[in-house]
Amino acid sequence: MSEHRNVLIVVFDCLRPDHLPSLGYRGTSTPTIDRLAGEGTIFPDAYCQAPNTWISHASLFTGCNPYLHGLRTPTRKLSADLQVMAEVFREAGYATYGLPAMSLLSREAGFARGFDEYTLDGLRSEPGVLAHRYDRAADETLARTKDWLRRTSTPFFGWIHYFGTHKVEDQLFDLPEDYRRSYSPYAQHYDGKVSFADERFLAPLIDELSGLGLLDDTIVILWSDHGEDLREIEHGRSWGHNWSLAEQVMRTVLIMRGPGIPPGNRHEGIARSIDILPTLVDLVGIPPLSQFEGESLVQGSPTHMNTVYMENLCQGFAALRHGKYKLVLAQREVAEVGSWRWKASLIRRTAGQVMPANLRRLRNRLRRSDASLWCRERGEPEDVMRRLLDHGTARLYELEADPDEHHDLAAALPETVAELRRRLTESIERTVPGSDIDMSEEEQEQLEDRLRGLGYL
Ligand SMILES: [Zn+2]
Repeated sequence: MSEHRNVLIVVFDCLRPDHLPSLGYRGTSTPTIDRLAGEGTIFPDAYCQAPNTWISHASLFTGCNPYLHGLRTPTRKLSADLQVMAEVFREAGYATYGLPAMSLLSREAGFARGFDEYTLDGLRSEPGVLAHRYDRAADETLARTKDWLRRTSTPFFGWIHYFGTHKVEDQLFDLPEDYRRSYSPYAQHYDGKVSFADERFLAPLIDELSGLGLLDDTIVILWSDHGEDLREIEHGRSWGHNWSLAEQVMRTVLIMRGPGIPPGNRHEGIARSIDILPTLVDLVGIPPLSQFEGESLVQGSPTHMNTVYMENLCQGFAALRHGKYKLVLAQREVAEVGSWRWKASLIRRTAGQVMPANLRRLRNRLRRSDASLWCRERGEPEDVMRRLLDHGTARLYELEADPDEHHDLAAALPETVAELRRRLTESIERTVPGSDIDMSEEEQEQLEDRLRGLGYL
């Protein structure tokens, strides 16, 4: 193993690849991301395995799809049978540091495993939703990361979660005036946040690495855990993510720079979040783990790269991309999810308020019906998946010709639907039973508070 190959993963929550100048976008400015892409390799066709923070991170941390790592709902924890990223590096002699920006990335769910230091300090609470904390100011995230870089031994492994690119309604820190743009269209505001993140967080972080003489010995990865559906549902609010398996939310940013990574390179072909850990162990000389479903993106001859598994079982969706086709199995139409979001936002905005009796009754009725959409009401995720495979509505898209998924080809190409359905069935044959986080009744209530704060209940 090379003693001097450090690893630093920087996560920009919700960052969409098609909003980066490195991939041709003109609506924002990101000189430091451009620099990392220019000096390293950019993966334009990168996918996450689930469109929400915790399930997606669980795939990053294990190199496994959700049916194998087990963390498929907010009440589940990472499988104890798997090794997670920081454990792999710590065992190889690395100093490890984790800075999560959301309390659902909890110790109880297994996310802190292997980290010498892992802290949720500095996160804010949404007023009235004390149990859920998220978002850390850019300057505080930067200060904490710099402090660790200055005192850590090498080799090191760091994972830094930056939340300032997350959707605006969940932001607890205001964007400085200089970067603030119109909230409507929302996409412009999003671009302002991306520009701020680049200039005020990423640039000084890379400067710090450089100033400490560590940059060229460090594999820097910029990744987003999922994308963002930027269509507006109201002034200053977007659809967000976690409501579908559409390309806008499943495509992620992936850029790698450092020793062993070809500079000035644009990777041809698909990359998945489950490929990142296999790539890293390959680059630093740690033997691959038998648990890996992902493959190294920099060496060898990958065999499964043209197949991407995706799930969002809490909302009743599963999908498989194979080659140019994507099969989506759905329990209900996306339009219904949109109307549900409106209801959820009403419930959230009126939580705890004194309301006239008729409005209160309406709110309570909505709350009950919305709760029924959540996984617990649907049943265990494994059962949801079985129902999807047996009875789910199939939609088929040819992504090269139709990247925005407007034309459903399921009726026209039944053999392709059958083939992808068969592959999806095969993929989940390895499913392991998941286990819930151990919780008292009080903790269960707190979790429901968290979910309510996020709009899931
Ligand atoms: Zn996220």
